[in-house]
Amino acid sequence: MDINLISEVTAQVLAKLQEQDRSREELGIFASMEDAILAARQSYRQLKTLSLEKREALIQAIRAAAEANAMLLAEMAVEETGMGRVADKNIKNILAARKTPGTEDLKLEAWSGDHGLSIVERGPFGVIGAITPTTNPSETLINNSIGMIAAGNSVVFSPHPTATNTSRKTIELLNTAIIKAGGPANLLTAVAEPSIDAAGVMMKHPLVNMLVATGGPGVVRAVLSSGKKAIGAGAGNPPAVVDQTADIAKAAKDIVDGCSFDNNLPCIAEKEVIAVGCIADELMSYMRKAGAYQLSRQQVNDLMKIILTEKEDEKSDGCTEKPKKSYAVNKKFIGKDAGYILNKIGVAALDQVKVLLCETEADHPFVLEELMMPVLPLVQVKDVDAAIELAVKVEHGNRHTAIMHSKNVDNMTRLARAIETTIFVKNGPSYAGIGVGGEGFTTFTIAGPTGEGLTSARSFARQRRCVLVDGFSIV
Ligand code: NAD
Repeated sequence: MDINLISEVTAQVLAKLQEQDRSREELGIFASMEDAILAARQSYRQLKTLSLEKREALIQAIRAAAEANAMLLAEMAVEETGMGRVADKNIKNILAARKTPGTEDLKLEAWSGDHGLSIVERGPFGVIGAITPTTNPSETLINNSIGMIAAGNSVVFSPHPTATNTSRKTIELLNTAIIKAGGPANLLTAVAEPSIDAAGVMMKHPLVNMLVATGGPGVVRAVLSSGKKAIGAGAGNPPAVVDQTADIAKAAKDIVDGCSFDNNLPCIAEKEVIAVGCIADELMSYMRKAGAYQLSRQQVNDLMKIILTEKEDEKSDGCTEKPKKSYAVNKKFIGKDAGYILNKIGVAALDQVKVLLCETEADHPFVLEELMMPVLPLVQVKDVDAAIELAVKVEHGNRHTAIMHSKNVDNMTRLARAIETTIFVKNGPSYAGIGVGGEGFTTFTIAGPTGEGLTSARSFARQRRCVLVDGFSIV
């Protein structure tokens, strides 16, 4: 081939690639973390010049784009991560788009009196570094983007590397909507290839003013030791307690529905059932009718061999001489369909099965570990006192989520007081706690460890007091 022709074609290809890189950069995706942070900083400055009304218009544009692409992002997430259910992820994306609070969340506080008027307003931090999980990739990005921008910030995201494409697509779609609505480019940024190293650069960078981590205990520890203002939204292991006063048929259906939602990936989903002995058989029978497949003891043992591996580093629990065994969850089964998991222990896949119900002892690893798959252990206890005690123990002090089915207000109050979780759902599926079939706004960043609770715009804002002395009080 003619040498001139080769160099001309090469030049054209390079120009095309550079053009793609440029347009990708305008939509927030950068080759380096440094560039992603600098662009977000510039965008934050531009956002500051816009009115609150304009900021709310950008939020509306984000909501519309997220909702219009909810199914596409749900399909991408399941395809890329190999976890969860498309229909449920679609619901979660729409939920984040519709029910994440916007600028109306930034409530003013005021005092007026003899000495004038003082107000506290909520202003931005600046650039927020947000770390997001693989279990809820697009929904956390949508939710965090709305809340953080509503508070006047720009965001550098560090998504989970196993959800790179879904996260990139979400950021590009939301930035496109922001630009079309007259907002600045790069209000949301990320690196093209997210990694733990890139997250480390972000956590140390002087231009990142606040960190928000949604994920397991490792990442929460990392942001809390960064020296920056940090919000940590960590792991949960939510117990569902059922006492003898509950509507047993309804409790069974709610538990199966909550546990199987997105194949148990949500951190709030029912991870174990604690049932008072006198109603346990009836509860299990209704759970089977609601879509649970009850495993035999042998099948539970078979399942344990494939979904858990014993960790090498056995450590003492500090109370007994005996070393306590600890387990790692086999990632291949996280977020998989119940039928798929059943098939792996030799039972022909049954599409209608939503949950694998396993009756176990209280100290079984299925109860103690956060499995994040539709495998639901059930423990029988003698009375509600024992149920409350066990629920507190297996929640591990995460202070995340607990569920109770009961008609006895005293029992519900006792568990809620003892377990101190951020979310406590009474007589409904766990997802009612984030606004699906329950009242209240939604969030995908539930900050138990640092105490912000269900985060929203005000969690991402700094309080600033403005005092006018001896004036503007009209009483
Ligand atoms: P994960 O902890 O493996 O990863 C979460 C994010 O942190 C990812 O972006 C990952 O790349 C990053 N990360 C992990 N370790 C890091 C480190 N040392 N330094 C920097 N970045 C690090 O969790 P996952 O599998 O993506 O998500 C599931 C976990 O998240 C579960 O434990 C679940 O309960 C929890 N979760 C909590 C909430 C909440 O609101 N509290 C919401 C969703 C998920």
